[in-house]
Amino acid sequence: MTVYCFGSINIDHFYRLPRLPAPGETLAVLDHATGLGGKGANQSVAAARASARTVHLGAVGRDGAGMLERLAALGVDCAGVVQRDDMVTGHAVIMVDDAGENSIVIHPGANRAQDLGAVQAALAQAALGDILLLQNETDLQPEVAELAIGKGLEVIYSAAPFEVEATRAILPFCNMLVLNAVEAAQLSEALDMPLEDLPVETVVVTRGSDGADWIARGAPPIHMPAFAVTAVDTTGAGDCFAGTLAAALDAGLPPTDSMRRATAAAALQVTQHGTAEAMPDADAVAAFLA
Ligand code: ADP
Repeated sequence: MTVYCFGSINIDHFYRLPRLPAPGETLAVLDHATGLGGKGANQSVAAARASARTVHLGAVGRDGAGMLERLAALGVDCAGVVQRDDMVTGHAVIMVDDAGENSIVIHPGANRAQDLGAVQAALAQAALGDILLLQNETDLQPEVAELAIGKGLEVIYSAAPFEVEATRAILPFCNMLVLNAVEAAQLSEALDMPLEDLPVETVVVTRGSDGADWIARGAPPIHMPAFAVTAVDTTGAGDCFAGTLAAALDAGLPPTDSMRRATAAAALQVTQHGTAEAMPDADAVAAFLA
């Protein structure tokens, strides 16, 4: 089976500075590094490292070849990614000072210029029961989700970065919603209904070091406690969880085992610095759970 992940691909530019610049100030950086980023790319890498055949669907600009090479090196099939010469790849400018304080700007670039025809062509290969995983950093999410659910795929929406309206628009075309505890509370309040009444089969709520909950219609809820680890960088934990969960479900694991794998992978991920490159592979997760 296959996990199709429709989502963002960013170039993350990290600039290390002695301090963050004040308005109007110009500062020279101490260091610069680039990394693969974007929630879509992170979740694809997490799914691929968890052993799922993973096909990324998305768009990069004329400067995107390097990020596609990194994605491919991490095990993700990029045949479904459109490269647009008239745009730049989405990118984040991340300034970090010596105290660890940061300031980030994001330019969505090609992430917000998706091509529905290209997605349709890629999904022509999909089989009944394959998974489509998507997030909220592109355009065309409801259209892609509707297309996928119509073809019999299981659609998992990782509702981040969270927006009530974006979530409301995509819910009719999802089987599963994955979101963190703060987002879950905001959604429940905005829609004025408890999570178990949301019009979606399954809601998975991640709760940081308190683990995660699986809330499915007509079944008792499942709580999976987090594994006790020393977290050094929790960036990307939610992406690691969502990608690993999709891979486990794609492999046919039942809910409790899938939640356990996702919780274990995310626990390992927070013990490392970085996002995509810090996603643990299936062997590391198996050894951790042994
Ligand atoms: P997000 O990054 O989207 O806010 P969470 O903070 O809820 O998501 O983290 C996602 C998952 O990562 C959690 O459900 C948990 O399994 C794991 N996780 C996050 N922080 C920790 C931690 N400090 N220790 C162990 N596991 C963690």
